[in-house]
Amino acid sequence: MSIRRLPAELINRIAAGEVVERPASALKELVENSLDAGATQVSVRLHAGGLELIEVTDDGSGMAPDEMRLALERHATSKLADDAIDRVTSFGFRGEALPSIASVSRLTLESRVRPSSGSGQAPPDGWRIEIDHGEQSGEGPAALQPGTRIRIEGLFDKVPARRKFLRSPRAEYAACLDAVKRLAMARSDVGFTFDHDGRRILTLQAADAPTRVAELLSHELDRHGIGIDCMRDGLRLTGVISLPTFNRGMADQQYLFVNSRPVKDRLLVGALRAAYRDLIARDRHPIAALFVEVPLDEVDVNVHPAKTEVRFRDPAAVRGLIIGGLRHALDEESQRSAAREQAAAPVMWTSSASYVPEPNLTQGLAGVREQQRAFEPVSFVPHARAEPAVEPVPSYPLGVARGQVAATYIVAEAEDGLVIVDQHAAHERLVLERMRAAREGGAVARQALLIPEVVELDEPDCDRLEGAAAELADMGLDIERFGSTAMLVRAVPAALGKTDSARLLADLAAEIAELGAPLGLRDKLDHVAATIACHGSVRAGRVLSVAEMNALLREMEVTPRSGQCNHGRPTWVKLGHGEIEKLFGRK
Ligand code: ADP
Ligand code: MG
Repeated sequence: MSIRRLPAELINRIAAGEVVERPASALKELVENSLDAGATQVSVRLHAGGLELIEVTDDGSGMAPDEMRLALERHATSKLADDAIDRVTSFGFRGEALPSIASVSRLTLESRVRPSSGSGQAPPDGWRIEIDHGEQSGEGPAALQPGTRIRIEGLFDKVPARRKFLRSPRAEYAACLDAVKRLAMARSDVGFTFDHDGRRILTLQAADAPTRVAELLSHELDRHGIGIDCMRDGLRLTGVISLPTFNRGMADQQYLFVNSRPVKDRLLVGALRAAYRDLIARDRHPIAALFVEVPLDEVDVNVHPAKTEVRFRDPAAVRGLIIGGLRHALDEESQRSAAREQAAAPVMWTSSASYVPEPNLTQGLAGVREQQRAFEPVSFVPHARAEPAVEPVPSYPLGVARGQVAATYIVAEAEDGLVIVDQHAAHERLVLERMRAAREGGAVARQALLIPEVVELDEPDCDRLEGAAAELADMGLDIERFGSTAMLVRAVPAALGKTDSARLLADLAAEIAELGAPLGLRDKLDHVAATIACHGSVRAGRVLSVAEMNALLREMEVTPRSGQCNHGRPTWVKLGHGEIEKLFGRK
């Protein structure tokens, strides 16, 4: 065996494998550098999703020629003045991005120093250095405004192994746009433009954070969003999340930040999910932009080459803050649903002007400014009432039942319009909330079976159920192991009424298998309760009496979170009088 030191060129290419996975990651590094250099305006230009060209121009500090040479060397950085890697506030600090990118592309770096303001000096001339796959291929004077322009062409052209894994220009373009959006949300005080194949995609003026986030997220969030602003144990959480009924098939509109750094952290994503659990179907995803602020020594940002993951000193506290904060906000808004007349209140956030920056966040390192974001949730303002009907209708928000349609929907007349309720979805929600309330109050009514029922299942499922037997008993489901491949059901929750125990147990076993260990007991119970509730609900297709229908409506009005079913669909919609009139062309 012969051990050898690898040449610098090869080391850079190895590092490139981690730092620049695809055009979007190279672009992210460049924009981060611009932000670290104190830019107030960053312009991005791409061709073919960045595969042909990525160009980033900024008006930041700029570099002198010798600094430019150094910047292209591995582990050369201006951002760790005193080796304090545990207190980094700049985006970069590893000094690997530029040399790594330069080793797998043709890179042109142009820069011109911006003299310190008030010095009265004219800016020195600009300089240009070209690198072709790690080798300097040219240099000379450059004409540009103070700041820096970096151009990357033919990324990975000579790295077939990597090239193979790249997706279509369209997919790479989408990833690049996403990367820029994340950084633009992180630094709303900086202006951005983004061009792709000669087309202007984004123009963002410097703004406060709520305005910037609103510009970049779905515009519908004005009506379907909830502002978040909470604090606990020195941790702060701000931002906006969507109502459960306003969800997406992909988790692509979830933007998470830790101390202004965009992250894709498992812990945070998991906490977001957990906050919505049982409000939204498992294959649907909320929209969110959430900013977590923690003291610098509570978080380690140096755990991932692309710096998209972080490690918290106290992960449980962060998880608790997110789940608790979001859950609280969601509960407050729980009577809102995506029903058209309902979500009439725009979410307004304001940015407070009187912010005194914390000294430890601003001192020292280049160009990072913390800015104040204050997201102020505005509570739901009821929609203006329409004219009352001729015969006064008692003013229940969900009205008085008038009939049932298709044995599935309840039609009710409210003071301000016509309400249609999905009886199964609504009832399922009520059963869940009832079970939850009972559990919190202590005892859940159970109904003992005269003859215990034997349910056959495979062995792993029996193991799972047996392991959860104590928790299930708390919810009124008494089961026991009965040999290796069967369970004995002795009692079921009274809320369920008559139920198919075999299917219930199979569903629960699947539920437990899927949730696995990391979820807390409470989370798990909620989930299991949702499964039980679904079993116990009034099925679509059952004919209800008027009294039953009214009882359901009244219970919905006083039950938290009754606006959506356990899968995030609305349980009811309202057609306002105005809308009905429009339907008939009367307005
Ligand atoms: P890092 O950002 O981790 O320091 P990089 O390889 O990304 O490492 O950049 C190396 C150095 O080059 C930076 O520390 C910075 O001093 C300088 N630099 C890079 N991009 C710019 C820019 N756009 N403006 C000014 N300086 C820059
Ligand atoms: Mg960098």
